[in-house]
Amino acid sequence: MSYTIGIDLGTTNSLCAVFQDGRPRLIPNSHGDFLTPSVVGVLESGEIVVGAAARELRVTHPERTAWCFKRFMGSDRPISLGAKTYTAQELSSLVLQSLVEDAKSELKASITDAVITVPAYFNDHQRQATKLAGQLAGLNVRRIVNEPTAAALVYGFHEREAEKNLCIIDLGGGTFDVTVMEIFEGTLEIRATAGESQLGGEDFTDRLVSAVLINQKMQLELAELKHPLHVARLRVESERAKRTLTAKDTARIRLPELDGQFSGQPREFKINRETFKKVCSKLMDRISVPIDRALRDAKLDPREIDEVLLVGGATRMPVMVDFVSSYFGKQPQMEFNPDEVVALGAAVQAALIEQDAAVNDVVMTDVCPFTLGVEIAKDLGGQIQDGFFQPILHRNSTIPISREEVFSTIVPNQRMVEVRVFQGDARRVTDNVELGRLRVENLPTGPAGMPIRIRFTYDLNGILEVEAYTDGGCKQRTVLTNHVQGLSQEQIQAALQRLQKLKLYPREDLNNQRLARYSERLIGELHPSQRQQLDLALDFFEGAMNEGDPQQFESAKQALLMTLSALGFPYDEHSADEQ
Ligand code: ADP
Ligand code: MG
Repeated sequence: MSYTIGIDLGTTNSLCAVFQDGRPRLIPNSHGDFLTPSVVGVLESGEIVVGAAARELRVTHPERTAWCFKRFMGSDRPISLGAKTYTAQELSSLVLQSLVEDAKSELKASITDAVITVPAYFNDHQRQATKLAGQLAGLNVRRIVNEPTAAALVYGFHEREAEKNLCIIDLGGGTFDVTVMEIFEGTLEIRATAGESQLGGEDFTDRLVSAVLINQKMQLELAELKHPLHVARLRVESERAKRTLTAKDTARIRLPELDGQFSGQPREFKINRETFKKVCSKLMDRISVPIDRALRDAKLDPREIDEVLLVGGATRMPVMVDFVSSYFGKQPQMEFNPDEVVALGAAVQAALIEQDAAVNDVVMTDVCPFTLGVEIAKDLGGQIQDGFFQPILHRNSTIPISREEVFSTIVPNQRMVEVRVFQGDARRVTDNVELGRLRVENLPTGPAGMPIRIRFTYDLNGILEVEAYTDGGCKQRTVLTNHVQGLSQEQIQAALQRLQKLKLYPREDLNNQRLARYSERLIGELHPSQRQQLDLALDFFEGAMNEGDPQQFESAKQALLMTLSALGFPYDEHSADEQ
């Protein structure tokens, strides 16, 4: 038996789900949690850890961890991890591998196929990069699905009789997406999608960190350069305070000393919801822009939205809930867990692909979120000027879609045309994003004005194919894959080999590794008089981990757990939400 799993590959957390016995369900990781932090770390031994253990390591050894790399998907920016550097797609493949391991162990089956979700507003490069990450993890990526679309699938799966206009607001760790859709008789029709790929919950934490530093009259860059541990600890404290403010009206941020350690009686920065709202007001100003745009494109008024679905951990913030409630004039619906709904939807999508009988009455249509087109030259009063954008596919067209436009040569006997493909809505191409180029050569000789046909096809994965041809001439065709890092088949193979050489820390021992890293982090946070006690217990535990005598290991572990409890920091294996 083999399954097609659904994966929500998030900026901060990733999840995996499967469709089984007529319904989607989440798959726990080796700690028994559904959320796996999208953090990769390298241990002193050189082994790679992914998830909660890596997130603990991030505080004490930021130079040996990588996080938030989803923000760089589709770029070849090197991200350093210990002594080496990796691309975002390589690091993502390590997260995917870890999820696949969890799925194998849970389902006792081989896992080769997956559906992976991406923010709706991910562009062609970012989608291709996600597919590549899947390939590097040894997965056959059956479909790339938009995250809000996946969330909508869960809604549609449970509410087949509904006839409603829905708005899905998805604020995750690093991205913001808005999707407007209509649902009737099990048919889910996406009407419009808009978003921002550089706005998320992490920015709210960053604002809080800056507010503290400004309050302490320190500049962020300066602090980060001089004292990475200081900023790392302050960030953990700020993240915790941000979450506390979701549940309570006030929170405290303990201020680490400049070297990153906490003194016996650390100073505190107190913050309440009102101040947090002020600190984040610039970010909140950006929230309404994509919502306005998606509604405008869907030709709907906020009052015509029957139900608002919140997706992504950051929509839990009261500032977001208040904003959404007043914008739409109604409370958002709270039935689905905002962290989990996307992965569950990916599993429903997998069931649709596998034609599972449980979903045979669910139909789904999606849209292309961007305007896509080419560069053209214009004759402006006898002067030919290039650099203008000519759309071929308009944003929010239902996909799959294929459209052809006819262009013409500008000079006589023009033998070559370079088709530059762009995404965006600006009149000039310089203000849009270039996706790739296609050279059409060996055009037949003749006068200016020879027709060149350009066809854009946008598939269900949101991947664009461009074809160009002349009447009677040969067809040139490109799927804009080669643009991602310019990766050839050989380069993909090389990346695969490089990754295969990495030694992943064994899944069955990850829990112990996490406990060790948690204790190590705490050592730096304790009062100096308590440090030694924990230090000793950790030495004993790490020694026992290396020695492999089960009895000795068990007693060392118990001793460490007891020490942690005695110090007032009991270890909770399921504290995945604690940063
Ligand atoms: P992604 O899909 O990008 O990985 P998630 O949906 O997991 O993101 O959301 C992560 C973001 O949500 C983080 O920035 C985190 O700080 C924020 N978040 C999670 N829980 C809460 C909460 N209770 N209050 C405020 N923010 C939260
Ligand atoms: Mg998400």
